Formats: sequence, C-alpha cells, structure tokens
Amino acid sequence: MDFTESDEHALLRESVRKVAATFGHEYYARCTNDDVRPDDLWQAAADHGFLGVHLPEEYGGGGAGIYELAIVCEELAAAGTPLLLILVSAAISAEVIAKFGSPTQKSHWLPGLTTGTKMVFAITEPDAGSNSHRISTTAKRDGDVYRLNGSKTYISGVDESPQVLVVCRTGVDEETQRAKLSLFVVDTDTPGLHRTNIPMEIRAPEKQFQLFFDNVEISADRLIGDEGEGLRQVFEGLNPERIMSAMICNGVGRYALGLASQYANDRAVWGTPIGRHQGIAHPLATAKIELELARLMTQKAAWLHDNSTDRVAAGEAANMAKFASADAGLRCLDQAIQTHGGNGLASEYGLADLWGIVRLLKIAPVSREMVLNFISTASLGLPKSY
Ligand SMILES: Cc1cc2nc3c(=O)[nH]c(=O)nc-3n(C[C@H](O)[C@H](O)[C@H](O)COP(=O)(O)OP(=O)(O)OC[C@H]3O[C@@H](n4cnc5c(N)ncnc54)[C@H](O)[C@@H]3O)c2cc1C
Repeated sequence: MDFTESDEHALLRESVRKVAATFGHEYYARCTNDDVRPDDLWQAAADHGFLGVHLPEEYGGGGAGIYELAIVCEELAAAGTPLLLILVSAAISAEVIAKFGSPTQKSHWLPGLTTGTKMVFAITEPDAGSNSHRISTTAKRDGDVYRLNGSKTYISGVDESPQVLVVCRTGVDEETQRAKLSLFVVDTDTPGLHRTNIPMEIRAPEKQFQLFFDNVEISADRLIGDEGEGLRQVFEGLNPERIMSAMICNGVGRYALGLASQYANDRAVWGTPIGRHQGIAHPLATAKIELELARLMTQKAAWLHDNSTDRVAAGEAANMAKFASADAGLRCLDQAIQTHGGNGLASEYGLADLWGIVRLLKIAPVSREMVLNFISTASLGLPKSY
C-alpha cells in the first residue's frame, strides 16, 4: 500500500488549485450575494478538462475515474469555491450515462458534459423522501414514447441545465411489491414540465426547485439502460455523489483550517498569538485529525468505486466517507469561526457563508440517519427498523 500521491494526481491537484485561485472565495461570495451563477468558474473547470476527467476519452473525457473527480471537487472546495452541481451533473448523470447509456446516448450527451453543459438529477419526491421505493412519479410506455406524471422536490440547478436525469416508477416487482424504477433523460423545456423555485436559507449560488410532470411526453430512446433496473443503475451514480459530497466537506474543512491557523498565528489579544492558547490550538488540532481520517475514508471510497468488483464494499465506504466528512467539515468550519471570534461571522472573513452548504451535506444527498441505518443493517447485520 502506497499513500504517496502519484505525480499525475499531484499535477491534477495543482492545476485545479491554480484555476480555483484565480477566482477565490470572494468570487463565490459575490455570485451568491449578487444572485449570479458561477458560470465563469464552471466553464473554466470544464475548459481545463476537470469536469469530464472521469469520462471516457472517446467522448472527450480524461479517461480517469471518480478518484480524480474527487480531487477536482476537493481542490475547488479547498479554495473556498465549492461547486455543488458537480455532485449531480458530473458524479451522477454523466457517470450513469457513461456506464449504462447506449453508444448513441453516450455520443449524444457525454461530449457536452465534458465541455460545460450540465445535466441535473431528480430522485427526491415530496411524499417519498428518503424512501426511494415510494417514488410515485410514473413513466408509462405508449408506443414510441413514455409519458411522465408526478413531482420531484429540492432539485438543484434545473434553471441552468438543458437536461435532467429523472428516476421514475415504471412498474412493481411482483415478489417484493416494491417499485421498479427506470432512468430517463428529460429536456428541461419539454412541454408539461413546470418548475417552481424553493426559497432556501443556504448561502450558495445554486438554486433549488420543485418539478411538476404533467403528461410530459419523451421519446422512448430517452430511457437509460434497462427498464426496471433504475435503482441498481442509479447507485453507480449515487455512490460517486456521496464521495463528491464528502470531498466538498473535506475541501471546505481544509479551507477553514487554513484560515483559522493563519488567524490564530496573527491575532494577539494578550500579547501572544491566540494560537498559543490550548483552548484555541487543541480544538483545531482535533478538527485536523478528524478531517484527515475523513479524507482517507473518502479516498478509499473513490478507489473502491473505480477498482473494486465488490459493490457492497464500495457502497459502504461511500456512505461512511460522506458521514465522516460532513461531521469533520462542519467541525473544522465551526472551530475556524470560533477561532476568529466575532470576525468569524463577518462577511469579510469568508467563513460563515459556507456553513449552509456543509450543513446541507449532513442531510443530503443521503441523511446521516439513513447512512447509520445502512451501516447497522448491511455492515453489522442488525435488524432493520423500517
Ligand atoms: C439544498 C438541497 C439540494 C438538494 N438537491 C437534490 C437534487 O439535486 N436532486 C434530488 O433528487 N434531491 C435533492 N435534494 C434532496 C435530498 O437528497 C433530501 O432532502 C434528502 O435525501 C433527505 O430526504 P428528505 O428531505 O425527504 O427527508 P425525509 O426522508 O423526510 O427525512 C426527514 C428526517 O427523518 C430521518 N429519517 C427518515 N427515515 C428514517 C429512518 N428510517 N430512520 C431514521 N431516520 C429517518 C431523516 O434522516 C431526516 O433527518 C436536495 C436537498 C436539499 C436540501
């Protein structure tokens, strides 16, 4: 086992760092404050090949894997510029199409996804919540088309994406009585697809929407993979989404600890730097330890996703990584704010505005309770409570 970063990975890390540094947290905060999309940063990331780093070379991608996309995600966040839509567009939609799309579908969508076009993702429903088996948005086959009816909620970035990958119910499993799910690429301007903005308290440039499908007609060739196999297929994208969520938390954690260490060295209120007081130093050191543990787990999860045939182990690691990283990232951020005293809550210091996005990642894309449920049953063999 070798924990030294390879030259290729170090180079990728450095390249992302350089691009992100030309924008910096001020840019991200300005986008949020002025209600402007961070398109310039997104496009710069695409132009440098970062957003398609994990996609096959024949479709314009970098030919690498989720490990490399995780480096991209982490370094962007570590610069104070986390890009939330990488989770849904690059990590889920692009990954699922690359794995399960037909050659025609791949050549239709993947080149765009490497050059900056987004494809967001919709699974969550108002009534089903964390229970994907209760999804009630249906897709019914009618000759050469499917008709979609139902609604989705908290769908990120629909306003900036020409397509959305939608998880629909296409039948019921006779044995288990559970929904059979299927995946469809839907143009966001298809007649019958309406959206309303959900006002949020998170300070991030990306917007959230409720979607309504009112007899939305799509061509049958928009089905990705096999009908009824959507749940199995979508996990090949949900695990990367968890890994990217973890890396956003880890990256923000690094960003916050960097600022906190600097401040604790510079700030002296009793004639000595505040970082000399163990009340300041030890919580930062504890946060650093937790952060490194979480990063290590996330790197392992990314490696397993790319290399292991044991998909249960890959899923377990992705869940653990997301759980640990959300806690670690929040702890780093909170301690960095504490270290800054009153300044920690001032806009100028660029910390408190990131709280919402890291706090979100304790709930989404899978809540910490659902991770604990999974680990209790799948890893420990305990009985299921629900
Ligand atoms: C800003 C934002 C962006 C999002 N972006 C997207 C997106 O782009 N696409 C998308 O599809 N979804 C998106 N989501 C939805 C997100 O994935 C869900 O909010 C999340 O999975 C939790 O589901 P829920 O909100 O329905 O909570 P619920 O399922 O209603 O759960 C509520 C609480 O109960 C707990 N709970 C539920 N069941 C159990 C149980 N069996 N045991 C113990 N505790 C339980 C949960 O952990 C949670 O704490 C987004 C959400 C937000 C807030």
